[in-house]
Amino acid sequence: MRRLRNVKIVATLGPASETYETIRALHEAGADVFRLNMSHGSHEEIAEKHKIIRQIEEDLSSPIAILADLQGPKLRVGVFANEEGEDLVSGAKFRLDLDKKEGDLDRVCLPHPEIFAALEPGAHLLVNDGKISLRVEECGKDFANCVVVNGGRISNRKGVNVPDVVLPLAALSEKDKKDLEFVAQLGVDWIALSFVQRPADMLEAREMIRGRAAVLAKIEKPTAVENFDDILDVSDGIMVARGDLGVELPVQNVPPIQKRLIRRCRREAKPVIVATQMLESMIESPMPTRAEVSDVATAIYEGSDAIMLSAESAAGDFPIEAVTTMNNVAIEVESDQTYRDIIEASRSTKGESVADSIVAAAREIAETTDVKAICCFSQSGTTALKVARERPRVSIVAMTSRLGTARRLALTWGTTCVVTPEFDRFKLSVLAAVGAAKRLELATEEDQVVVTAGVPFNIPGTTNIIRVAPCDERLISATDPE
Ligand code: ATP
Ligand code: MG
Ligand code: MG
Repeated sequence: MRRLRNVKIVATLGPASETYETIRALHEAGADVFRLNMSHGSHEEIAEKHKIIRQIEEDLSSPIAILADLQGPKLRVGVFANEEGEDLVSGAKFRLDLDKKEGDLDRVCLPHPEIFAALEPGAHLLVNDGKISLRVEECGKDFANCVVVNGGRISNRKGVNVPDVVLPLAALSEKDKKDLEFVAQLGVDWIALSFVQRPADMLEAREMIRGRAAVLAKIEKPTAVENFDDILDVSDGIMVARGDLGVELPVQNVPPIQKRLIRRCRREAKPVIVATQMLESMIESPMPTRAEVSDVATAIYEGSDAIMLSAESAAGDFPIEAVTTMNNVAIEVESDQTYRDIIEASRSTKGESVADSIVAAAREIAETTDVKAICCFSQSGTTALKVARERPRVSIVAMTSRLGTARRLALTWGTTCVVTPEFDRFKLSVLAAVGAAKRLELATEEDQVVVTAGVPFNIPGTTNIIRVAPCDERLISATDPE
C-alpha cells in the first residue's frame, strides 16, 4: 500500500486489536508493521495474529512486516485477582513476594528470586515504565515490604525496574529461546531482542535465527548506549526503547540519546524505530496531548525510519485513532519545508562502493530534475536501504522478487515495495519499474523515473546501472538496450 508519507508506523497488537477487521483497519489507517510482544499472549494467540496479518497482506496485495519482540530478562509482576489490576495510593504499604497466588491491593507475586537476593532496604522499584515507584522498607530472600512513593494503577505482568541494583542478566532466557524458535518457524520478518547489552547478545541470537528473520536490537540499557556502535554493527535495525531507557537512566538523557542513535542508524543505512509513550494519553482519550504530537513530530524531523505505538494500539480504547493521528502528523510534518531542510542537513552519505555512488546519483537526479520516483531493484534489500539513506525528495519504489525482502523493507523510511518476477533482461526490468510507478500513481505517461539495477541480474550486491526512463512504454521498447 502506498503511503503519503515517508516515516513508517509500527503498531503493537494486543487485546484491543486482535480481529481481522481491526488489524485490517489499522493497516488501512497507516500501520506498516505489526509488533507481536512475546511478553503477553500465548503461542496460539501469536500464531493466530500472524495468520490474520498474512491473510490481510494477501487480500490487499500489500507486503506487511511482522516484528516479534522477545521479552528478554525483563522483570514483571504476576497477575491480579482483579483483571483491571489495583490502584496503589502513595503512602500505602505494598508487598512483593514469590507466592504464585493472584495479587490484590496488599501484595503481588514478583517471580524473580534473584531480585530478592539483591535488594536492600532503601532500594527503589519502578513499575510500568517508571509510572509507579516503590521503596523497599524490609526484605528477605522471598519478599520485599515496600511503601508506595508514587501511586498509580498496577495490573497484570507490568514491568519492574530496579535501577539501584545491578542484576546479572543473561541475554536470552529459556523462554526467549523457545519464543525465538517458535516465531522463526512461524515466519516473522523481524525479531527484536530486549535489554541487549553487548554485541555478543546479538550474535547469540543471530546464530539461532540463522537468517530466517532480520534482527533488531532494543536499546534500553545504559550499557547498550555505551556499546552502541558495536551493537549496531551486528544488528539489522534498532529500536530506541524509551520506556525502560528513561527508567534506567535519568529521563532527561533520553532525548539526546534518541537524536544520536537516529543519526548513527541513518549513517549505517539501518532502520531505526522510536518507541514508547508516543501517544500515551490516547490509551484512554481519542485526542492526543500537544506534547505527544510534538514528540511524534520530533522523531519524524530527526529522520527516524519508524514511529511506534505500544499500549495505544495493543490495549487502548482508540487504536485506529492513534494510527490515524500518527499518519496525519507525519503527512503534515513532511510537507513542511523545514522538514526537508533538516533531513538534508542531517544526511550522511557513507561508503565508496559503486552502489553508493549510484544511489547518490539517483538522489541528485531527483533533486535537479522532475523525475517522480526512484525505482531500485534490490534482492537482499541492501540497495533499497542505501537509497533510503539518501532520504531523497521523491518516493522510493523497491522492486524485488523476494517476498521476504519486501516485508522487511516495510520498516524502512520512504520505501514502497513491489514484488516482481525474476527478470533476466534489463529492458524488462525498466518496463516493470515504470509500470509499478504508474500503478502506484506516482507517475503518469508523460513523466520520467530513475531506475537502478544490477547487471547481470539476480546476483545480490551488484547495483551498477542507472537509467532515467520515460514512463511511456512505447519509448522504452523502441530504444532501450536489452
Ligand atoms: P516492553 O518492555 O516489551 O515494551 P510492555 O509490557 O511495555 O513490554 P508494550 O507492548 O510496550 O508492553 O505495551 C503494551 C501494553 O498493553 C502492556 O502494558 C500490556 O499490559 C498491554 N497488553 C495486554 N495484552 C497484551 C498483548 N497480548 N500484547 C501486547 N500488549 C498487551
Ligand atoms: Mg521494554
Ligand atoms: Mg513497552
